[in-house]
This record gives sequence, C-alpha cells and structure tokens, in this order.
Amino acid sequence: MQLEIIGTSGAFAPGTNVSMIIWPQDTKQNGILLDCGFSVFQKLQELNFSSKLDVVLLSHLHQDHCGSAVTLAEFCDQINNHKLRTGGIDWQELLTLSDADEGKIRTLPLTANFPLQTFPVPHVKGMKSLALFYDNKILYSGDTSVSLLDTPQAAIAKLIIHDAALKSNAFHCGLKSLADAPKEIKAKTWVTHYHPKDLEAYKALCQEYGLAGVLEAGMSFQL
Ligand SMILES: [Zn+2]
Ligand SMILES: [Zn+2]
Repeated sequence: MQLEIIGTSGAFAPGTNVSMIIWPQDTKQNGILLDCGFSVFQKLQELNFSSKLDVVLLSHLHQDHCGSAVTLAEFCDQINNHKLRTGGIDWQELLTLSDADEGKIRTLPLTANFPLQTFPVPHVKGMKSLALFYDNKILYSGDTSVSLLDTPQAAIAKLIIHDAALKSNAFHCGLKSLADAPKEIKAKTWVTHYHPKDLEAYKALCQEYGLAGVLEAGMSFQL
C-alpha cells in the first residue's frame, strides 16, 4: 500500500488541513482518506482524487478535521454516483446537521472486514476524539493532548503520523513529549498539524529528538 500526504496544516494555518490518503493497491484508486477538514475537498478536486476515494475516516469533529467531509460525501453521492463508506468518529451528527434526513442516505457503513482499529484519545474536554490504526500498519493520532508513542499500537505500527505542537498546550501534546519514547518508535514517527511558518523549527526539533521528520504535502510512503 501507499500513503500519500495531502495536507499538514492545523486550524487557522494557511495550506491544506491535515489529511492523507491510503492507496491499498499502490494504484491511485479505492483510496481511504484520513480526515477531511474545511480546505481538503478543494484540494482533492484540484488533485482529481474525489472520484478515486472509497472510504473516509474522521478522527474527530473539529472543522480542521471534518469541515468538508459532508461536501465530499454529497459530491460522491450526487455527482459521482458512488457512495462513500464512512468510519472513525460517528458521522451521524454531521450528516444530520448538514442534510437533515437526506444525510442518512448519502453514505454507507464500513464493510465488516475493513481493517480499522480506533481508540479514544484526550483532546478537548467533552469531545470524542479517536486515533485511527489502519491494517496494523499506519497509526494516525488525530488530535491528542498526550503522546501515543507508548501505546501497543505504536509498538507494532510500521509508520506513525502524530500531531504535535511546538510547545504542549491543553489540546495538543508538545514535540518534547514525543522525545521520551524509545528510539525505534521515534524513528518511525512523522509529525504533522503545524503552521507553515514553523516548519524549520519543527524540523530542527524532530532532528534533535530523533523523530523521523516533519510531514509535508505531496510526500508518499510505501508500506
Ligand atoms: Zn486539529
Ligand atoms: Zn482538534
């Protein structure tokens, strides 16, 4: 499979929001999109990827992670005649808010054998947030206020995509808290969810702490 990075920007930062596509067969078809913030649908249209997706998984319901997910689902259903399968956080609230009863018929559930494991992570009090673990290979943290590098999923993952702030705050763990993980875990951990103006500072800290690096749009990984 191939993992392609679509965006890396957190809320209010210029550029495309944190999002990535898993291409299970190495060809650009049957894609699985992880997170679909407010700027992502436009980017998918530019890349001509909207019609190449089968599944969209959402980590939580902040706008920089879900803000154009319903637009994408409606586009796939109404324009492409190909309903998306949706997973991760429950989409029901989003679909109902955007499209009332029609929302229910826009998407399909994941198939029973879809290889996704999710687990809750702390982010904003009272808000459900999930980490997404695909096929025992790719661990995506979503937004978390604690490091997930000490989880069993991190131990077996081939690649970890982790959000981190330059300095920890109430909603996001800091890069420094990733530094405590074992060397081999850090070596497969790529950091995302940043403002483009901070890219060089992120790169310097990733190097200092032994992390794999900073994700940038357009990167891809073979797994
Ligand atoms: Zn976010
Ligand atoms: Zn968030």
